[in-house]
Amino acid sequence: MSLDNKPFYAGGCQCGAVRFRVEGALGEASICHCRMCQKASGNFYLPLVSVRDARLTWTRGEPKKFQSSNHSTRGFCAACGTPLTFEAPDGVALAIGAFDDPSVAPPEIQWGTEAKLPFVDGIPALPGEDTMADIASAPYLADLVSYQHPDHDTEAWPPEEKR
Ligand SMILES: [Zn+2]
Ligand SMILES: [Zn+2]
Repeated sequence: MSLDNKPFYAGGCQCGAVRFRVEGALGEASICHCRMCQKASGNFYLPLVSVRDARLTWTRGEPKKFQSSNHSTRGFCAACGTPLTFEAPDGVALAIGAFDDPSVAPPEIQWGTEAKLPFVDGIPALPGEDTMADIASAPYLADLVSYQHPDHDTEAWPPEEKR
């Protein structure tokens, strides 16, 4: 375990209706390839970090829960759909991508590798390009306005100037 024991971590969903705060050391960070995590994240695998030994507080709103098995539930924002939690009898894990700074929880282990999609290992070798490098062929990027909640806590929600 090499994660710093920072005073706290914060994060939340894309729209900002649900925000969390974690006080204390983060636990194991992982990615899970299992089919349930693929579905729950709408993605190839789900990065999670355990907060079972820390104090988790919902500072704005709370996740809606889906009981995905007899042993576990998964929390997500009911307003925007961002996956937020995996909750099992041995504790809660948070979706790493939902943290304001996801780099605080680099994965240390992969779970569910029997379900790993065959192309996942080849992704780092794919050609890549910065978003703004594509501006000529995607002119809408020039005046794009993000409605995503910023990567820090805010006083009021929803923001008044929205749309
Ligand atoms: Zn949301
Ligand atoms: Zn899984």
